[in-house]
Amino acid sequence: MKLEGIHHISAITGDAPGNVEFYAGVLGLRMVKRTVNQDEPNVYHLFYGDEKGSPGMDLTFFEYPGAAPGVAGAGMVHRIVWRVGSAAALDFWDERLKDNGVSAARRGESLLFPDPEGLGHELVVAEAPDEPLMAESPEIPAEHALQGFDGVRAYSASPVRSEGLLGDTLGFSRTEGEHWKVRGAERGSFYAYDRAPQEINRRQGAGTVHHVAFASQPEDLEAWRLRVVSAGARPTPVIDRFYFKSVYFREPSGVLFEIATIGPGFAVDEDEEHLGERLSLPPDFESLRERLEQTLKPLPYPPAWRVASSA
Ligand code: ZN
Repeated sequence: MKLEGIHHISAITGDAPGNVEFYAGVLGLRMVKRTVNQDEPNVYHLFYGDEKGSPGMDLTFFEYPGAAPGVAGAGMVHRIVWRVGSAAALDFWDERLKDNGVSAARRGESLLFPDPEGLGHELVVAEAPDEPLMAESPEIPAEHALQGFDGVRAYSASPVRSEGLLGDTLGFSRTEGEHWKVRGAERGSFYAYDRAPQEINRRQGAGTVHHVAFASQPEDLEAWRLRVVSAGARPTPVIDRFYFKSVYFREPSGVLFEIATIGPGFAVDEDEEHLGERLSLPPDFESLRERLEQTLKPLPYPPAWRVASSA
């Protein structure tokens, strides 16, 4: 039983329309689902990914309109690391981000930049053999498109506390220092700790990561949950999120983990050609549609070229 790397990463935005402009517009990701937060259904939950909404390339945002900016501190993911195909792609993104007013910084073979609310991102040249997961955008040549998650970096005040859970329970393997690899039959990612900055008032808010989910084969989820229980962590029951099933628990450094199943996926309630173009509501939430369609803000999506190409 192995986890297939990162399934999705969920973060917080205070501004859904601006978030769409950055992730679907500037970064060229596809919106693969437009739905609501199942734990608080009056706010958006937006999912961005590759053309299919594959695990391994799925960044999601809960929108809390006008949320105060957060600050990543101990027990929080502070940077999302994505793969690109080559050093030329780093040059492309350096220029494209700067043209869009983003302060990108080249550091050797990587490119660092924040999103408009301060969430940290890094692009690195892919070394893993995994299938590249890409979205289509007329503004981004396919050879430069983002190719999925390489990993995440979190802050920990005491990473040694997490070693047992990561290594013995979840089957991560340590590559060096506080850098871990999690790899299944098809995909893998890294999970790394940096020393938490001192004098930081950590605060969950706009521009911070809420949790990171690792991918499980559907039939293994309950066994993963039992394994986490026997390690002394306290996972939730298995929760049916409609697009996948999940369990959540906090790892000992404080980062909220989720284990989510590969599938059924985002095409379960809309045709793959039109993912994310309208509000999708799981059956239990369908009765709220009329009210939500009046209260949720309109979003700048889908772009005209998608409508034209699927017409
Ligand atoms: Zn999640």
